[in-house]
Amino acid sequence: MIPNPLPGQPQLHYREESLYLEDCQLADLAREHGTPLYVYSSGAMLDALAAYQRGFAGRRVQICYAMKANSSLAVLQLFAAHGCGFDIVSGGELARVLAAGGDPAKVIFSGVGKTRTEMRQALEAGIGCFNVESEAELEVLSEVAASMGLRAPVSIRVNPNVDPKTHPYISTGLKGNKFGIAHERTLATYQRASSLPGLRVVGIDCHIGSQITEETPFLDALERMLDLVAAVEAAGIAIHHIDFGGGLGIDYNGDTPPAADALWAKLLARLDARGYGDRQLMIEPGRSLVGNAGVCLTEVLYLKPGEQKNFCVVDAAMNDLPRPAMYQAYHAIVPLEHVPEGRGHAVYDVVGPVCESGDWLGRDRDLAVAAGDLLAVLSTGAYCSAMGSTYNSRPRPAEVLVSGSHAEIIRNRESVADLLRNERLPATHP
Ligand SMILES: *Cc1c(COP(=O)(O)O)cnc(C)c1O
Repeated sequence: MIPNPLPGQPQLHYREESLYLEDCQLADLAREHGTPLYVYSSGAMLDALAAYQRGFAGRRVQICYAMKANSSLAVLQLFAAHGCGFDIVSGGELARVLAAGGDPAKVIFSGVGKTRTEMRQALEAGIGCFNVESEAELEVLSEVAASMGLRAPVSIRVNPNVDPKTHPYISTGLKGNKFGIAHERTLATYQRASSLPGLRVVGIDCHIGSQITEETPFLDALERMLDLVAAVEAAGIAIHHIDFGGGLGIDYNGDTPPAADALWAKLLARLDARGYGDRQLMIEPGRSLVGNAGVCLTEVLYLKPGEQKNFCVVDAAMNDLPRPAMYQAYHAIVPLEHVPEGRGHAVYDVVGPVCESGDWLGRDRDLAVAAGDLLAVLSTGAYCSAMGSTYNSRPRPAEVLVSGSHAEIIRNRESVADLLRNERLPATHP
């Protein structure tokens, strides 16, 4: 039996028992381009963006896509063309934004470990804002900017100490996390920032975690941010923009995160009630813009029945799709095509070829599969390909972007020659 409806992904559906993303038949794409294969729906990305844009209608807002979720150039180009800026966390990401035609003035630079070289590159490009994460970073940024005769626009990332109630590895706004400036140090840090010659204070920001499916943590964080804005402005330092970070969750497996427009209606009501409704706003959504726009296609290589467990060995692995191994994350796994009548089903762990017991994509899945079948791993638009590696010398998969019935390769499958390109055998060897 083919499972329908599918969790989360609005552009994914069965038509005559064959799985389509928009109007593209996925089995065709898998046969044409090989597996593993990432396929993304541009329509799903733009729908997700539109939900935020609806929520902010009539407000001054800059949506900065947190591109670490999926940094393929074609994805960046799509968001740039629809008005997005970008939240970057490295010089490499800045180079990607520029290569994709993004506007550097709409770039904000987050992350706890910016190097002097990255600061210089970002200042040269003329980015919109540095989200500074520590007092030590402030000093270095001021020095670098002053040496270039510039003042770096800064926002201070505050740690509001709220529990986002998500996986510990993706909680970032608790006291024990490495991110942001502690609540109690915020005012002193702003005072220091406004006294440094190479800095210009422009905003405040926070980001409390990822895959947040409740609205309370967002509302709590907003209240705490606004308390800080009041304290900083009372000390005579103007805060021009309030950046609320990202973190809104998606439906992986029956999860019910608030819709972006509904969440923002509530947050904006609070902002208005406290008198900050007219401020420039920024947000940094990542997962919620792309997570449910992508699938990873894979072929069943072998079935391996066992006494305790049955294994379904597929050609995608933890290097291609690391979230299950890293976070015990759930991704639905469904067949691409009609399952022949009478084929038996069984409960399988779906695993890849990598030599690690952590290499699994799904556990205890009821599947009616045979070797050679094609499967789709769902909700893999965010933090999958972007987190991939070449472990076990497995070249990275190809990627396709679909729009209606049009499908285009946006990343060629990596070759083994690509993997070896930067290695050198020593000229002298023992
Ligand atoms: C990762 C990250 C985001 C995006 O988080 P999502 O959960 O993908 O929305 C936003 N801001 C910062 C600073 C981040 O590190």
